Amino acid sequence: MPDLKGSTVLVTGASRGIGAAVALHMGKLGANVAVNYAGSESAALEVAQTIRDGGGDAEVFQADITDSASCTALVGAVVERFGSLDVVVNNAGIARDGLLVRMSDEDWDAVIRTNLTGVFSITRAAGKVMMKARAGSIINISSVIGLVGNAGQSNYAAAKAGVIGFTKSVARELAPRGVRVNAVAPGFIETDMTAELPEKVREAARGQIALKSFGTPEDVASAVAFLASDDARYITGQTLAVDGGMTFV
Ligand code: NAP
Repeated sequence: MPDLKGSTVLVTGASRGIGAAVALHMGKLGANVAVNYAGSESAALEVAQTIRDGGGDAEVFQADITDSASCTALVGAVVERFGSLDVVVNNAGIARDGLLVRMSDEDWDAVIRTNLTGVFSITRAAGKVMMKARAGSIINISSVIGLVGNAGQSNYAAAKAGVIGFTKSVARELAPRGVRVNAVAPGFIETDMTAELPEKVREAARGQIALKSFGTPEDVASAVAFLASDDARYITGQTLAVDGGMTFV
C-alpha cells in the first residue's frame, strides 16, 4: 500500500465519480484531503465526512476551476488550512459530445476551459508552492480518448491530448525542483459521465476492452495513489492507461 501519511492532497472535482474515489482512497492512506467541488456541495460534504469518520482529516473547498482567480484562491486556501500542499490530482472534467460539423462554439469552449485550461490554472498555482518546497507530485486525469480519439468527442479528445502534452512539458520544467508530474488515462469507468451513454455505445465499448469489463473509480484511485506516493519517486512525465487493455499496442 502506498504511504501518504501526513501528506496534503488536493483533488479537484472530488464530489462524485473518480474524484470522490481518489479522495476517499487518499484518506484511507493517511492523507489530509482537500475535497474540491463546483456545484455538488452535499456530495462533497459526505466525502469529507467519510474521510473524517475513518480517522483522517478532510475539508471541502468550493471552486469553479474554469475561473483562474478561483484556482489561485483554492490553492491558497488549502495551504492555509493544512499548512502544505504535497499532491494535486487534477480530476475535474466534463464532456459535451457532438459530431464536429454540429459542435457549437459553446460546447468546444466549455470542454477546453474545464478539461485543459482548468488543469493549467490549478497546476500553475500549485507548482509555485511545490517548487518552493522542492517536493510534490501532480497527477492529471487525461483519458484514453486523448490517446486514440473518438468520433463525437473532438473537443474532449483535444483537451485530453492537450493534458498529456502539458504533463510532459511541466514534468520537464519542475523535475529540477523535485516535483513529479504524471497523467492517468482511464478507459471506460462506471460513473455519472458514462451512465448517460446508450446501451449500444456501452456494449461497443466493452467489445474493445481486453478484460471485457468496465473499470471502477477505485481502479483509477489506486493508480493515482501509486503515482502520488514515494513508490513512484523515479517516475515523471508518464501517462498510465487504466483501461482494462483497451488501447495498448
Ligand atoms: P463525473 O462523475 O461527471 O464527475 C465530475 C466531477 O468534476 C464532479 O465532481 C464535478 O463537480 C467536477 N467538476 C466539473 N466541472 C467542474 C468545475 N468547473 N470546477 C470544479 N469541479 C468541476 O466525472 P468522472 O467520470 O468521475 O470523471 C472524472 C475525470 O475523469 C474527468 O476529467 C473525466 O474526463 C475523466 N475520465 C473519465 C472517464 C470515465 O469513463 N468516467 C474516462 C476517462 C477519463 P460538481 O458535481 O460539484 O459540479
